[in-house]
Amino acid sequence: MGYNQKMFGLGSKRSIIREIFEYSKTRATEIGAENVYDFSLGNPSVPAPAEVNDTIRELLATENSVLLHGYTSAQGDANVRKVIADRINEKFGVGISPNLIYMTCGAAASLSICLKAVMEEGAGDECIVFAPFFTEYRVFIENAGGKIIVSNPKEKTFQIDVADFESRITPATKAVIVNSPNNPSGVVYSEETIKALCEVLRRKSAEYGRVIYLIADEPYRELVYADVEVPYLMNYYDNTLVCYSYSKSLSLPGERIGYIAVSPKMEECTNIYLTVCGAGRSLGYVCAPSLFQQVIARCIDAKVNVEAYKENRDLLYDNLTSYGYECVKPDGAFYLFVKALEEDAYKFFERAKAHEILVVPCDDFGVKGYVRIAYCTDKAKVVGALPAFEALAKEYLG
Ligand code: PLP
Repeated sequence: MGYNQKMFGLGSKRSIIREIFEYSKTRATEIGAENVYDFSLGNPSVPAPAEVNDTIRELLATENSVLLHGYTSAQGDANVRKVIADRINEKFGVGISPNLIYMTCGAAASLSICLKAVMEEGAGDECIVFAPFFTEYRVFIENAGGKIIVSNPKEKTFQIDVADFESRITPATKAVIVNSPNNPSGVVYSEETIKALCEVLRRKSAEYGRVIYLIADEPYRELVYADVEVPYLMNYYDNTLVCYSYSKSLSLPGERIGYIAVSPKMEECTNIYLTVCGAGRSLGYVCAPSLFQQVIARCIDAKVNVEAYKENRDLLYDNLTSYGYECVKPDGAFYLFVKALEEDAYKFFERAKAHEILVVPCDDFGVKGYVRIAYCTDKAKVVGALPAFEALAKEYLG
């Protein structure tokens, strides 16, 4: 076998979410798509703002085609980076320069690049993640030569358990990934939690005499439903890298656009930025999509209709809890993290499937006995699924 077995494993083993998605397509041809309650995929259901499509048309009609579709500099177009840096400074007052912004192909690329930049292959570096966590973290961390370490959450609230976190830090800890609003729980980590976490990071960095990098994974930053603030981590911890994406905030997941922001307060921030550039180069990213860099610069204040997700969240949360399901009320993202009505989330998934409900068992997200409902669907689908959720609950709870 003259090829990489680890990569073969990644490519040939379908993720459970993909498997459910394939099943859903087949089932839809058998009983009609409207009768399959598929809540498996985190693909935005709200369209990109009209402004985005208008801007694309305008750019195509007015800009020089060769330039518009050409390579940009590796870190991204200078003007685009300036627009982004200005907006970050306006909102969060961090004083970042465009020379610390690196345009990427979405959060997945941002994370892979940041991890590659800070972790050293063969050095036994560890990266801590907080359960429940986005399953691809394991792939990205291992690909950067690191080891994933999972910190367990507080029961019921799914906030970070700072004591558990502290117990996982070792002299090998190089990075920590914080994802808020969280996939799959929808939880927004409170300011109190973030402050406590950063305090531990500072103390442990000093104790071990080496920097621990905080990587903020923020594709859901704009999707919040209550009057909650999502703390901007650069304002709490100097050695922070922010991985931002427009996949969910502008409903552009297929266009692959986002950025990395390196905190200006980070030790050796210019060198870290150059290391980010080197990591992007080594991973073969070349540059982020040129057309969409221009779209972002012109649509920096555009917003998707978050209200549509909120309606789905309220419908599902209010009804499911009234049927007897247990879940934490999500303040953001578009996921509901529901306790399975039996110990084994896979068995529960199978019984839900018999009611044509497709949810994702979350053992791989680091918490056993839960399923994820992605409510980025039409409201009609949510309304249609409610009787099925009720019948499923009755099967267990009577
Ligand atoms: N991080 C989290 C927590 C996600 O849920 C996702 C996608 O669903 C990503 C990163 C990757 O997003 P992107 O499309 O920006 O690469």
